[in-house]
Amino acid sequence: MKNVVVLGAGMVGTGTALALQARGFSVVLVDRSAPGSETSYGNAGVIQGEACEPYSLPRDIKTLCRIAFKDDNSVDWDVAGLWRSAPSLVSYWRHSAPNYHRTLGAQYSTLARRATHDHARWIAASGAETLIRRDGYRIAFRDGAAFELQTRQAERLRDLYGIEFEREESATLAAAEPALRQPLVGAIHWRDAWTCSDPGALVRAYSALFEKQGGELLKVELLGFEPSAIGWKLRSSEGTFDTEHVVVALGPWAPQALAPLGYKVEMVRKRGYHLHFDYPTDESVPRLNLPLLDAAFGAIYSPMRAGLRIATGADLSATSNCQPRQLRRAEAAARELLDIGEPIEKSPWTGVRPCMPDMMPVVGAAPRHRGLWFNFGHGHQGFTLGPTTGELLADAMSKGSAHTISSLAPSRLFN
Ligand SMILES: Cc1cc2nc3c(=O)[nH]c(=O)nc-3n(C[C@H](O)[C@H](O)[C@H](O)COP(=O)(O)OP(=O)(O)OC[C@H]3O[C@@H](n4cnc5c(N)ncnc54)[C@H](O)[C@@H]3O)c2cc1C
Repeated sequence: MKNVVVLGAGMVGTGTALALQARGFSVVLVDRSAPGSETSYGNAGVIQGEACEPYSLPRDIKTLCRIAFKDDNSVDWDVAGLWRSAPSLVSYWRHSAPNYHRTLGAQYSTLARRATHDHARWIAASGAETLIRRDGYRIAFRDGAAFELQTRQAERLRDLYGIEFEREESATLAAAEPALRQPLVGAIHWRDAWTCSDPGALVRAYSALFEKQGGELLKVELLGFEPSAIGWKLRSSEGTFDTEHVVVALGPWAPQALAPLGYKVEMVRKRGYHLHFDYPTDESVPRLNLPLLDAAFGAIYSPMRAGLRIATGADLSATSNCQPRQLRRAEAAARELLDIGEPIEKSPWTGVRPCMPDMMPVVGAAPRHRGLWFNFGHGHQGFTLGPTTGELLADAMSKGSAHTISSLAPSRLFN
């Protein structure tokens, strides 16, 4: 039996640990915190079976001007942050060219289209059914032109990838979501997505299943790792240990862990924020049924066990903000639409989407070291894709093959 240590117990590391275990590997899952405490906790909880093309940078002049003048709430920035990320942002910009972006869809869609299926197995086995709804989510519009544009885009995706959606006009949307206090122009209802009412709890359920099936969960801080006679020596806050194989599934922390081994990972760090708000306890006041992405404000309102979670778009600033502008605007926008109470936490949660400039996760064998494997860089969709890229990597590792899908190969990043 081969021994593997998976570093990072977010959705990606936990999905990978389960997939390796299912193929007969002896697996230790390592994290300094409880599983699913970081990015895989703080997201909007949408398992995006519809996200067939990765998240590109806007390239039209109108949107770019709005971002430059901080008039577009889906993106924030400061000069220090742009300067720090300049090389990766330039690369991200190049890869966002429409032709290239469309060709990426051919491979990315194969991941997105199997994502709910790959979750389904672990949801059932871990008894996490109560956390999941299979009714999709909505993107709602306050502006007719934006609604029409998104409808054309949805039709294109449906024709290319067979994704299901419904265009809901104002009255249909109002009937489906009686919690909305004012009429909106309409919504796109993506049917192929699932939603989770507690993303951190879903990862914990998966990791509990991993342990129940004989896997070892180790709560230690990784300090470093280097090649050894049997494979790898890991240094941790609790001492050193050896293993044949190491999988790096450290999400936003992968670049700093890999730098000492000579791998310079360019990552676009898109910070996001969330805060929970009290729902009215009065049963006669309707609550939001499904997560609603408010397109005009680039924020998503997700009904969660902890309250209504308002989560923001991308902040490219160098440091996090304890009173983020995007969240303040999103809260005001949500209050126009929904009857929400006071914030539940004193300060917002913040975390970083680990985005690769070419928008594809990094999954496969490290090009320069035997027994070292990568699974990180899932950007906007790691909660969705963790179990799927976990399956792909576990397949490659059990066959001893370096690659999964060509556009995911780590070798594309390092010569
Ligand atoms: C606001 C927001 C909304 C989002 N919404 C969605 C969504 O609706 N759907 C979706 O699919 N995705 C969404 N995402 C993206 C998604 O959350 C991420 O892509 C995903 O969680 C990344 O998972 P991960 O396992 O790679 O990283 P993480 O979940 O961050 O896991 C990495 C783990 O590594 C551990 N670690 C780091 N360093 C060390 C060390 N030295 N020693 C030990 N352990 C260490 C950390 O403790 C952490 O648990 C959203 C992201 C944000 C910020």
